[in-house]
Amino acid sequence: METEILEVVEGPAGERAIERAAALLRAGRLVAFPTETVYGLGALAFEPAAVRAIFAAKGRPPTNPLIVHVPSAAEARQVVRGWPERAEILARTFWPGPLTLVLPRDPRVPDEVTAGLDAVAVRAPAHPVARRLLAAVGAPVAAPSANRYGAISPTTAAHVRKSLGGAIDAILDGGATPVGIESTVLDLAGPVPTLLRPGAIGREEIAARIGEVAVPAAAPEE
Ligand code: AMP
Ligand code: MG
Repeated sequence: METEILEVVEGPAGERAIERAAALLRAGRLVAFPTETVYGLGALAFEPAAVRAIFAAKGRPPTNPLIVHVPSAAEARQVVRGWPERAEILARTFWPGPLTLVLPRDPRVPDEVTAGLDAVAVRAPAHPVARRLLAAVGAPVAAPSANRYGAISPTTAAHVRKSLGGAIDAILDGGATPVGIESTVLDLAGPVPTLLRPGAIGREEIAARIGEVAVPAAAPEE
């Protein structure tokens, strides 16, 4: 497979690049795109075959669930069952941004996305290219980091091409990603909010908004 490189330059050519990437995604294809953390490898979250293709391209075990990317809280609510007050507060405070929330999933989210779990991870990225892409797709996009399984997460389009060139349909090149570390993953599905993965937003910042944030014994401390 030839991997298209779609460069997001200023002006109409950049708009065409985003439109092309969105059209590929809507057709069930795989497109890497920049977020404020690292490059993600996207596919339509509601299309099981498209999601399976992510795992195949990355060599990622199907037991490792994916984060669903949406433009804002309004669309996040379409992939979850229930939207607790804590989710509302955190989304108002940190979205768009590098905080991923884990909540009970809506039945439309396929098992492929959640690795069969009853909860789904969702976030609204802040990167302007990711935001334009999600708006153009008009549907939730599942996306892990755009690297072969076990390799370091990519912060440039060139890294993505080196890792996945020939295995994915396109790379939307929006330059180097500004943060370079992954999103914080917070589980809101249980009685006590729990930090599943430390990341760009600190546990203290979150606790300042919603109170106690637990850390599972096995997870590394920040
Ligand atoms: P990434 O490899 O950057 O796509 O990050 C995915 C990570 O998000 C996983 O390794 C989990 O830590 C977390 N995650 C995704 N979906 C879920 C879920 N349904 N339940 C719990 N954690 C999840
Ligand atoms: Mg990764």
